[in-house]
Amino acid sequence: MTGLVPALSRRRLLAIALAQAGLLSSPAEALAANPRQLRIDNVTGLYAVEVARIETPRTTAEVSALVRAWTGKVGIGGARFSMGGQIAVAGGLHLDMRQMASVLWLKPKERVVRVQAGLRWRDLQDRLDREGLAVKTMQSFANFSVGGSVSVNAHGRYVGHGPVGRTVRAVQLVLHDGQVVEASRRQRPELFRAVLGGYGALGVITEVELDLAENVKIERIVEPVALTDYAAHFRQRVLGDPRSVLHNADLLPPAFDAPVSTTWRRADPATPLTEREPLVPRGKRYALEQNVIWAVTEMPGGALSRASVLQPLMNARPAVVWLNHEASLDVAELEPRTRAISTYALQEYFVPERHFLGFAREMAPVLRHHEVNALNVSIRHSPADPDALMAWAKEDVFSFVLYYKQRTWARASAQVGVWTRALIDAVLRHEGRYYLPYQPHATREQFQRAYPEAAALRRLKDEVDPGWKFSNELWRRYL
Ligand SMILES: Cc1cc2nc3c(=O)[nH]c(=O)nc-3n(C[C@H](O)[C@H](O)[C@H](O)COP(=O)(O)OP(=O)(O)OC[C@H]3O[C@@H](n4cnc5c(N)ncnc54)[C@H](O)[C@@H]3O)c2cc1C
Repeated sequence: MTGLVPALSRRRLLAIALAQAGLLSSPAEALAANPRQLRIDNVTGLYAVEVARIETPRTTAEVSALVRAWTGKVGIGGARFSMGGQIAVAGGLHLDMRQMASVLWLKPKERVVRVQAGLRWRDLQDRLDREGLAVKTMQSFANFSVGGSVSVNAHGRYVGHGPVGRTVRAVQLVLHDGQVVEASRRQRPELFRAVLGGYGALGVITEVELDLAENVKIERIVEPVALTDYAAHFRQRVLGDPRSVLHNADLLPPAFDAPVSTTWRRADPATPLTEREPLVPRGKRYALEQNVIWAVTEMPGGALSRASVLQPLMNARPAVVWLNHEASLDVAELEPRTRAISTYALQEYFVPERHFLGFAREMAPVLRHHEVNALNVSIRHSPADPDALMAWAKEDVFSFVLYYKQRTWARASAQVGVWTRALIDAVLRHEGRYYLPYQPHATREQFQRAYPEAAALRRLKDEVDPGWKFSNELWRRYL
């Protein structure tokens, strides 16, 4: 036993040296020589990627040195909530950005901040809350990194905001040769546009400059709406009301035809809070939520109980909270006790406003026919995105966010592939797009139809990253 460890280390060192010298070109070769099999997981437990080396830089200079020195492929990871190998490339170097988590400067009066890209929204919120400020646009949970959110061009429930890229003033990037560059709407605008929603294809984002918003008191308004009336309801009562801050509507199984609209609108400052905590406390335990989610997804009649019992219970009481509280939800509230047998996953479809009803009516039978164990479908809205090259909102869209449970074995995954491709066909028929941070079940042809701008991304990558150093399992498959 005693001789084994040094022997393994020597093999691994040799593998790294060979890979760096470009002599171990295939991922399989690199892995065969790397018995420790460094495994990069994501939140679902599916699509783990074996890499040759992991590094956790703390500064831009370290990122630059690591990228320059490594001659193989490089994948980049933020908080690791994407679900299909987007954060790593087999046999490559994995840059784990989570230690690059500082606020570099904050200008409260100008409402702008510059942060390192591995910073999580929740850590930024701690700092902003003291100044009466809030993140302007982010997802509905606060666990994600800023760099990961910019790289998928995430969105939240913010009324009229669109994706996070709209709030990005500038990014600092490390390119394939270690060069450090700044990109913004004025400086290298083509690169800037491609980095928003670029899934790490062009370089490592090391710093991000973001617009901020005021932290305001908000109150919740819950209204059931007929499916046929929902699009008009959103335009008139939500978008048309300047007090609206956050909005989504839930569709519940098995019918998915009775939206319950939830709008958080700006409250009168004198309205008493129903929740005194400024932010969701860290480390809170969510045993009740875990049990309820288990029961409705595993017990007979669970789908029906979601609509008849849970929804009214969840939204019955009035709520007045700080925006920062509602924006600091923790994904731990969704996390099951184990993901060994089953796991929870997301999908999202973006549909032009005029096709809202058509897509909703096609989606529901697909989910029922394939007996998808859906917890809910959350509807949101985004105005057209004029910034990102690979924009998911080419015009004003409604999005359908599906949250569902699947078994972890291969046959279950293959079944998910079948109905996912059916939903992608449906969204393409309705001139829409699907979201890329989730499982890679789309065919290459579906990807090309959804994102014809990929051709422009390829051309830009040839210029900016001529050896195609930056990669991951998403881009290996589709780009
Ligand atoms: C429970 C849950 C809820 C979600 N809700 C929403 C939602 O409301 N709205 C929404 O839009 N999305 C939502 N998502 C999806 C989420 O926004 C993405 O998965 C996002 O990527 C998560 O950020 P991350 O830091 O985990 O990124 P990661 O998964 O770590 O990375 C995502 C991509 O960004 C790249 N990347 C990461 N950091 C950098 C960097 N510094 N430089 C260059 N490239 C980088 C990676 O290579 C990868 O391709 C949700 C996901 C989960 C699990």
